[in-house]
Amino acid sequence: MRILIVEDDTLLAGGIIGYLKQAGYAVDLAQNGDQADSWLAREHYDLAILDLGLPKLDGTEVLRKLRRRGQTTPVLILTARDALQDRVKGLDLGADDYIIKPIALAELEARIRALTRRGQSGGNPQISYGPLLLDTSAKRAWLNDAPLELPAREWSVLEFLLTRAGRIISKEQILQSLCGWGEEISANAVEAYISRLRAKLEPAGVHIRTVRGLGYLLEKPNNETRS
Ligand code: CA
Repeated sequence: MRILIVEDDTLLAGGIIGYLKQAGYAVDLAQNGDQADSWLAREHYDLAILDLGLPKLDGTEVLRKLRRRGQTTPVLILTARDALQDRVKGLDLGADDYIIKPIALAELEARIRALTRRGQSGGNPQISYGPLLLDTSAKRAWLNDAPLELPAREWSVLEFLLTRAGRIISKEQILQSLCGWGEEISANAVEAYISRLRAKLEPAGVHIRTVRGLGYLLEKPNNETRS
């Protein structure tokens, strides 16, 4: 899950970034509206957290341009307590939700989960795939009804594969979903996460197949295909 934070207050942005990274999200920070606009146009983000008062290009302009390009990226705006008009304007321009400063980080994460869930699995936080069950809201996994403990990065890779089950996913796509700007994750690291996941999933018959030259494909046991 890759999130763009657009916020010129570095202290606040730092707090948000630290919290979200801990929770397993890949996070990029844009510190002015211009930068946010060009990244949003060029990169794939699962969500944008957008401050409205920004240097170079106002947050409402960033949002307006995003929606004019037809991009449906969920947008959560950050507004000041008394700025009711900003909030209304933001929602009118196509923001999906807003959160009032000073923000509570746990609340912010709950809103993020709600918005990305809406976009991903039609509102159902639970995804099952053969013997595998993922609760994307609680960030927990089960394999044959037994809890499956996964470090944050492995969790993110598994969620990425599972929400795209049946499709071949390239190493590059996985890499993109994991790393924010300025963070170095190598293709080798992706291979390492995949191989650790394989070790955990294969005893239950869930395979991450390598499709040579293309990427990976998640496969569940054959006897499960009837369901
Ligand atoms: Ca600001």
